[in-house]
Amino acid sequence: MIDLHTHSTASDGTFSPSALAALAAQVGVSVLALTDHDTVAGIAEAEAAGKEYGVTIVPGIEISVAWEPGELHLLGLGIDTQNDAVQRLIRFSQEQRNIRNEIMAGLFKSAGLSFDMQRLTQLADGAVIGRPHFAQYLIELKKAKNIQDAFHKYLAKGRPFYVKKECVSLAEAITAVRSAHGVPVLAHPMSLYLSWSKLPAAIESFKKEGLLGIEAWHSSARKGECVRLEKLAQSLNLLVTAGSDFHGSIRKDRKLGRTVCDMPIEDRFYTEQLLPALKNARMQEPAAAATL
Ligand code: AMP
Ligand code: ZN
Ligand code: FE
Ligand code: FE
Repeated sequence: MIDLHTHSTASDGTFSPSALAALAAQVGVSVLALTDHDTVAGIAEAEAAGKEYGVTIVPGIEISVAWEPGELHLLGLGIDTQNDAVQRLIRFSQEQRNIRNEIMAGLFKSAGLSFDMQRLTQLADGAVIGRPHFAQYLIELKKAKNIQDAFHKYLAKGRPFYVKKECVSLAEAITAVRSAHGVPVLAHPMSLYLSWSKLPAAIESFKKEGLLGIEAWHSSARKGECVRLEKLAQSLNLLVTAGSDFHGSIRKDRKLGRTVCDMPIEDRFYTEQLLPALKNARMQEPAAAATL
């Protein structure tokens, strides 16, 4: 069993990178990609723990890309985390988050809530600060019962404290991943909110920008959609990956090493799909670095 999409405390997961590697060993996941949102801060710890527990760690990232009306997340799998273009992209994203956090803080205050940026930073405990931490803050202020409630009342798109975050373009994200010798994969394609009549053309256009694969199997899709996405990938000559999008206890519906319908993720997604592409990516000359 493997897992090619997971989160740790470096972003919004609840397991530390080493605890995640330990859990992988415990449940029988032999290859684990750590793909935190817009950060690679957890990779070194995961790699060290992976060695200890006998789990192969694929260094990864999940990049938020500008896209309306849904969400476009790009997985960069097997990247060199020190690569300049990747580091620039992470810095850009962090700056944009800082700007958004300040605006959200202003919205809290205008709504008459007390807000202290230091407290928010404490709640994030070293992780990239995001809406889940604002959600914790709202629970602490007794404005929400739980994380879901906080999103529903205040933080989800269209709710009073929602602030759009500026994201990099798909071309920039793909270029950064490829220049870092990684494999760019479209995460959970259903979150693009495109109908089946529009999805194939969109994915084909992403391929023209350098996309190499799609995450056909994801916990939040329906099984029928996953089957259809895998066929679509084959027809477009793209590789197929599978992931749980594990976040630990904040999303109890997702289990490490398992995808839609609790299906264990087969090794073939690594051995037959990602691994050959990674070998290929490592042989390529670095592409021109994305300018941000
Ligand atoms: P951000 O990157 O700061 O916009 O936060 C996005 C994160 O918030 C996602 O990765 C999810 O973990 C979490 N999230 C988004 N929508 C919801 C929701 N409706 N309920 C719970 N968590 C959510
Ligand atoms: Zn997340
Ligand atoms: Fe995602
Ligand atoms: Fe994710």
